[in-house]
Amino acid sequence: MKTNILVSLASIIFTGYVTMAVSAPPHWSYEEEPHWGALEDASQVVPLRYPYAECGIGTHQSPVDLANARIVKSGPLNKLMARYGIDTPSFINTGHAIQVNTSPDFTGGLKVGKELLPLIQLHFHEPSEHVFGDKKFPAELHFVHVSQDGKIAVLAVTINIGEENAVFQTILDNMPYGSGEENSTSGVRFKLSNLLPSGINTANLEYLTLAGSLTTPPCSEGVQWYVLTKSIAISSAQLEQMKTFYSNNARSVQSLNERSVLSNR
Ligand SMILES: [Zn+2]
Repeated sequence: MKTNILVSLASIIFTGYVTMAVSAPPHWSYEEEPHWGALEDASQVVPLRYPYAECGIGTHQSPVDLANARIVKSGPLNKLMARYGIDTPSFINTGHAIQVNTSPDFTGGLKVGKELLPLIQLHFHEPSEHVFGDKKFPAELHFVHVSQDGKIAVLAVTINIGEENAVFQTILDNMPYGSGEENSTSGVRFKLSNLLPSGINTANLEYLTLAGSLTTPPCSEGVQWYVLTKSIAISSAQLEQMKTFYSNNARSVQSLNERSVLSNR
Protein backbone atom coordinates (compact mmCIF):
# COMPACT_ATOMS: atom_id res chain seq x y z
CA MET A 1 0.00 0.00 0.00
CA LYS A 2 2.71 2.37 1.07
CA THR A 3 4.72 1.44 -2.02
CA ASN A 4 1.71 2.06 -4.28
CA ILE A 5 1.23 5.53 -2.84
CA LEU A 6 4.90 6.27 -3.42
CA VAL A 7 4.70 5.01 -7.00
CA SER A 8 1.61 7.16 -7.67
CA LEU A 9 3.26 10.14 -6.08
CA ALA A 10 6.40 9.60 -8.12
CA SER A 11 4.39 9.40 -11.33
CA ILE A 12 2.53 12.61 -10.49
CA ILE A 13 5.79 14.38 -9.78
CA PHE A 14 7.37 12.94 -12.89
CA THR A 15 4.41 13.83 -15.12
CA GLY A 16 4.37 17.28 -13.62
CA TYR A 17 8.02 17.66 -14.41
CA VAL A 18 7.51 16.56 -18.02
CA THR A 19 4.60 18.98 -18.46
CA MET A 20 6.74 21.81 -17.16
CA ALA A 21 9.67 20.80 -19.31
CA VAL A 22 7.73 20.78 -22.59
CA SER A 23 5.63 23.91 -22.03
CA ALA A 24 7.06 26.97 -23.73
CA PRO A 25 7.91 29.89 -21.48
CA PRO A 26 5.84 33.00 -22.14
CA HIS A 27 6.82 35.06 -25.14
CA TRP A 28 8.53 38.35 -24.28
CA SER A 29 9.80 41.37 -26.19
CA TYR A 30 12.02 44.35 -25.44
CA GLU A 31 8.96 46.63 -25.80
CA GLU A 32 7.46 44.78 -22.80
CA GLU A 33 10.60 45.24 -20.68
CA PRO A 34 8.92 47.30 -17.91
CA HIS A 35 6.43 44.43 -17.45
CA TRP A 36 8.65 41.34 -17.80
CA GLY A 37 8.11 40.58 -14.10
CA ALA A 38 4.33 40.59 -14.58
CA LEU A 39 4.08 38.31 -17.64
CA GLU A 40 2.05 35.13 -17.10
CA ASP A 41 2.48 31.62 -18.44
CA ALA A 42 -1.05 30.80 -19.57
CA SER A 43 0.03 27.56 -21.27
CA GLN A 44 0.00 25.71 -17.93
CA VAL A 45 -3.09 23.82 -16.72
CA VAL A 46 -2.57 25.62 -13.44
CA PRO A 47 -1.27 28.94 -14.79
CA LEU A 48 2.15 29.85 -13.53
CA ARG A 49 1.56 33.42 -12.53
CA TYR A 50 4.86 35.24 -12.85
CA PRO A 51 7.70 33.06 -14.16
CA TYR A 52 9.79 36.19 -14.79
CA ALA A 53 9.12 37.79 -11.39
CA GLU A 54 12.83 38.12 -10.70
CA CYS A 55 13.05 40.72 -13.52
CA GLY A 56 10.82 42.95 -11.40
CA ILE A 57 11.72 42.17 -7.81
CA GLY A 58 15.36 41.02 -8.02
CA THR A 59 17.90 43.23 -6.26
CA HIS A 60 21.01 42.04 -8.11
CA GLN A 61 19.91 42.66 -11.69
CA SER A 62 21.98 43.33 -14.80
CA PRO A 63 23.09 45.38 -16.66
CA VAL A 64 24.31 48.32 -14.58
CA ASP A 65 25.96 51.70 -15.03
CA LEU A 66 29.59 50.98 -14.25
CA ALA A 67 30.55 54.66 -13.99
CA ASN A 68 28.02 54.98 -11.20
CA ALA A 69 29.39 51.99 -9.32
CA ARG A 70 31.72 51.99 -6.35
CA ILE A 71 34.75 50.36 -7.95
CA VAL A 72 36.97 48.67 -5.39
CA LYS A 73 40.53 47.80 -6.30
CA SER A 74 40.37 44.64 -4.35
CA GLY A 75 43.12 42.43 -3.00
CA PRO A 76 43.93 39.26 -4.85
CA LEU A 77 41.04 38.46 -7.17
CA ASN A 78 40.69 35.30 -9.19
CA LYS A 79 42.97 35.19 -12.21
CA LEU A 80 40.81 35.11 -15.32
CA MET A 81 41.93 33.18 -18.37
CA ALA A 82 40.00 32.89 -21.64
CA ARG A 83 40.58 29.54 -23.32
CA TYR A 84 38.62 30.06 -26.50
CA GLY A 85 40.20 27.76 -29.07
CA ILE A 86 39.11 26.59 -32.52
CA ASP A 87 35.55 25.30 -32.91
CA THR A 88 32.94 24.46 -35.56
CA PRO A 89 30.00 26.23 -33.93
CA SER A 90 26.31 26.58 -34.80
CA PHE A 91 24.70 29.90 -35.71
CA ILE A 92 21.38 30.57 -34.01
CA ASN A 93 18.82 33.30 -34.56
CA THR A 94 17.14 33.15 -31.15
CA GLY A 95 14.33 35.59 -31.88
CA HIS A 96 16.01 38.12 -29.57
CA ALA A 97 19.68 38.11 -30.63
CA ILE A 98 22.20 36.56 -32.96
CA GLN A 99 23.98 33.76 -31.14
CA VAL A 100 26.81 31.30 -31.71
CA ASN A 101 26.64 27.96 -29.87
CA THR A 102 29.83 26.01 -29.31
CA SER A 103 29.85 22.41 -30.52
CA PRO A 104 29.31 19.61 -27.96
CA ASP A 105 32.96 18.58 -28.13
CA PHE A 106 34.33 22.08 -27.55
CA THR A 107 36.59 21.94 -24.50
CA GLY A 108 37.31 25.65 -24.08
CA GLY A 109 35.96 28.06 -21.54
CA LEU A 110 36.72 30.69 -18.95
CA LYS A 111 39.17 29.73 -16.25
CA VAL A 112 38.24 31.54 -13.04
CA GLY A 113 41.02 30.84 -10.58
CA LYS A 114 41.42 27.08 -10.85
CA GLU A 115 37.95 26.31 -12.19
CA LEU A 116 37.21 26.05 -15.92
CA LEU A 117 33.66 27.08 -16.79
CA PRO A 118 32.77 25.71 -20.25
CA LEU A 119 31.82 28.26 -22.93
CA ILE A 120 28.30 27.36 -24.08
CA GLN A 121 27.39 30.26 -26.36
CA LEU A 122 28.08 33.87 -27.26
CA HIS A 123 25.64 36.52 -28.50
CA PHE A 124 25.37 40.20 -29.31
CA HIS A 125 23.34 43.19 -28.09
CA GLU A 126 22.82 46.52 -29.88
CA PRO A 127 23.53 49.01 -28.31
CA SER A 128 25.62 47.97 -25.29
CA GLU A 129 23.82 46.84 -22.15
CA HIS A 130 26.45 47.99 -19.66
CA VAL A 131 26.86 51.75 -19.74
CA PHE A 132 29.49 54.10 -18.37
CA GLY A 133 27.64 57.23 -17.26
CA ASP A 134 26.48 58.93 -20.46
CA LYS A 135 28.53 56.58 -22.59
CA LYS A 136 26.89 53.66 -24.29
CA PHE A 137 28.89 51.53 -26.71
CA PRO A 138 27.42 50.70 -30.15
CA ALA A 139 27.19 47.01 -29.21
CA GLU A 140 28.18 44.40 -26.63
CA LEU A 141 29.30 40.78 -26.84
CA HIS A 142 28.46 38.24 -24.13
CA PHE A 143 30.38 34.99 -23.72
CA VAL A 144 28.16 32.71 -21.59
CA HIS A 145 29.75 29.98 -19.44
CA VAL A 146 27.93 27.37 -17.40
CA SER A 147 29.73 24.97 -15.03
CA GLN A 148 28.62 21.38 -14.52
CA ASP A 149 27.08 22.33 -11.17
CA GLY A 150 25.09 25.16 -12.80
CA LYS A 151 27.21 28.23 -12.00
CA ILE A 152 26.87 30.93 -14.68
CA ALA A 153 29.60 33.43 -15.57
CA VAL A 154 29.33 35.93 -18.40
CA LEU A 155 32.31 37.70 -19.94
CA ALA A 156 31.14 40.98 -21.47
CA VAL A 157 33.10 42.79 -24.17
CA THR A 158 32.03 46.26 -25.32
CA ILE A 159 32.12 46.94 -29.06
CA ASN A 160 33.30 50.14 -30.75
CA ILE A 161 33.21 51.22 -34.38
CA GLY A 162 36.52 50.84 -36.23
CA GLU A 163 38.14 48.38 -38.61
CA GLU A 164 36.15 45.54 -40.13
CA ASN A 165 36.19 42.44 -37.92
CA ALA A 166 36.78 39.25 -39.92
CA VAL A 167 35.38 36.79 -37.35
CA PHE A 168 32.29 38.91 -36.79
CA GLN A 169 31.74 38.94 -40.57
CA THR A 170 31.91 35.12 -40.57
CA ILE A 171 29.20 35.11 -37.90
CA LEU A 172 26.99 37.53 -39.87
CA ASP A 173 27.46 35.59 -43.10
CA ASN A 174 26.37 32.30 -41.52
CA MET A 175 23.51 33.61 -39.40
CA PRO A 176 20.02 32.51 -40.48
CA TYR A 177 17.49 35.32 -40.92
CA GLY A 178 14.42 33.49 -39.62
CA SER A 179 13.58 33.83 -35.94
CA GLY A 180 14.27 30.54 -34.14
CA GLU A 181 16.34 29.14 -37.01
CA GLU A 182 19.68 27.40 -36.55
CA ASN A 183 22.54 26.85 -38.98
CA SER A 184 24.51 23.88 -37.67
CA THR A 185 25.83 22.59 -40.97
CA SER A 186 28.07 25.45 -42.10
CA GLY A 187 31.23 23.53 -41.21
CA VAL A 188 32.89 26.91 -40.62
CA ARG A 189 35.81 26.71 -38.21
CA PHE A 190 37.35 29.64 -36.42
CA LYS A 191 39.24 30.54 -33.30
CA LEU A 192 36.77 32.00 -30.82
CA SER A 193 39.53 33.98 -29.07
CA ASN A 194 39.72 36.10 -32.25
CA LEU A 195 36.60 37.82 -30.87
CA LEU A 196 38.60 39.14 -27.90
CA PRO A 197 40.40 42.51 -27.99
CA SER A 198 43.69 42.19 -29.87
CA GLY A 199 46.89 42.54 -27.93
CA ILE A 200 45.47 41.58 -24.55
CA ASN A 201 46.88 38.87 -22.32
CA THR A 202 44.19 36.17 -22.53
CA ALA A 203 45.94 34.29 -19.71
CA ASN A 204 45.42 37.17 -17.28
CA LEU A 205 42.49 39.35 -18.35
CA GLU A 206 41.88 42.82 -16.88
CA TYR A 207 38.29 43.06 -15.73
CA LEU A 208 35.59 44.58 -13.58
CA THR A 209 33.41 42.03 -11.79
CA LEU A 210 30.09 42.08 -9.99
CA ALA A 211 27.20 39.82 -9.03
CA GLY A 212 24.27 40.17 -11.40
CA SER A 213 21.63 38.38 -13.43
CA LEU A 214 20.67 37.25 -16.89
CA THR A 215 19.65 40.39 -18.83
CA THR A 216 16.73 38.60 -20.52
CA PRO A 217 13.77 36.79 -18.93
CA PRO A 218 13.77 34.95 -16.54
CA CYS A 219 16.46 37.45 -15.30
CA SER A 220 17.84 34.76 -12.96
CA GLU A 221 20.33 36.05 -10.41
CA GLY A 222 23.52 34.33 -9.30
CA VAL A 223 25.32 35.26 -12.51
CA GLN A 224 28.90 36.45 -12.03
CA TRP A 225 29.76 39.18 -14.55
CA TYR A 226 33.25 39.93 -15.83
CA VAL A 227 33.42 43.07 -17.97
CA LEU A 228 36.64 43.49 -19.93
CA THR A 229 38.30 46.88 -19.63
CA LYS A 230 39.20 46.86 -23.36
CA SER A 231 36.79 46.90 -26.31
CA ILE A 232 36.76 45.20 -29.68
CA ALA A 233 35.93 46.91 -32.98
CA ILE A 234 33.59 46.18 -35.86
CA SER A 235 33.02 48.42 -38.90
CA SER A 236 30.01 50.72 -39.20
CA ALA A 237 28.81 48.62 -42.16
CA GLN A 238 28.96 45.54 -39.93
CA LEU A 239 26.95 47.30 -37.22
CA GLU A 240 24.31 48.16 -39.84
CA GLN A 241 24.27 44.54 -41.03
CA MET A 242 23.87 43.35 -37.42
CA LYS A 243 20.91 45.72 -37.01
CA THR A 244 19.15 44.00 -39.91
CA PHE A 245 18.82 41.02 -37.52
CA TYR A 246 18.09 42.85 -34.25
CA SER A 247 18.39 46.38 -32.97
CA ASN A 248 17.62 47.84 -29.56
CA ASN A 249 17.95 44.38 -28.03
CA ALA A 250 19.49 45.75 -24.87
CA ARG A 251 17.91 45.84 -21.43
CA SER A 252 17.92 49.18 -19.61
CA VAL A 253 20.26 49.86 -16.70
CA GLN A 254 19.23 48.34 -13.36
CA SER A 255 19.78 49.69 -9.85
CA LEU A 256 23.07 48.73 -8.21
CA ASN A 257 21.41 48.40 -4.78
CA GLU A 258 24.66 48.86 -2.81
CA ARG A 259 26.59 46.41 -4.93
CA SER A 260 30.30 47.05 -5.28
CA VAL A 261 32.25 46.37 -8.44
CA LEU A 262 35.67 44.82 -7.99
CA SER A 263 38.59 45.55 -10.29
CA ASN A 264 41.87 43.68 -10.80
CA ARG A 265 43.49 46.51 -12.75
ZN1 LIG B 1 23.47 39.02 -23.30
